[in-house]
Amino acid sequence: MLGSYLYILLIAVALGAVTQWYVNSAFTRQSKVPLATGHTGAQIARNMLDAEGLHDVGIERVSGRLSDHYDPRARVLRLSPDVHDGSSVAAAGVAAHEAGHAVQHARSFAPAQLRQTLVPAANIGSQAAFPLIILGAIMGGAGGLMTLGILLFAAAVAFHVVTLPVEFDASRRALGALNVGNTLPAEQVRGARTVLTAAALTYVAATLVSVLQLVYFLGLARR
Ligand SMILES: [Zn+2]
Repeated sequence: MLGSYLYILLIAVALGAVTQWYVNSAFTRQSKVPLATGHTGAQIARNMLDAEGLHDVGIERVSGRLSDHYDPRARVLRLSPDVHDGSSVAAAGVAAHEAGHAVQHARSFAPAQLRQTLVPAANIGSQAAFPLIILGAIMGGAGGLMTLGILLFAAAVAFHVVTLPVEFDASRRALGALNVGNTLPAEQVRGARTVLTAAALTYVAATLVSVLQLVYFLGLARR
């Protein structure tokens, strides 16, 4: 039984490595394609936010590579140097995607709200679930511990699952904004799409692994 958990860990490591490599290579490739409009990522995001009436959402530069994110509490887009200052297809895609998260927040997009409420439970779940479940399994009769662990882990799985529509929607909004006015050649929009699809695959992989773990834990509990 523990042997099958090792398989799940191997799948997790392999999928994680492959998707990271894929997103990195897609980003690097599209970073070399100069954006036809000459805009930087920061300008792309600013235009998209302004078009949505979100003049008060700020844009900041953060260090790191692919560290881009939207902070809903501060209502600020934080863009990595490559994206903030870069004038490439990759920079435009990532900047517009993060702006898409700001638009979701402003429009109270339901899956994004649900995802936000799941954050605390998912954090506890991803850390405490495994020790609780193993302890419950070792102690045999301690079904309560195991049930608690599985419930906590289910919250983490729910978080991964609800992340998917949030990420897909942010990319859909991003590509829609890049298409507005047809200022960008179709092949550059397609290039941005490949970067965003690669990034989405990392979320799909994480979700798949968490579902496999849950199935394994449920199998342990049934024994
Ligand atoms: Zn995202």
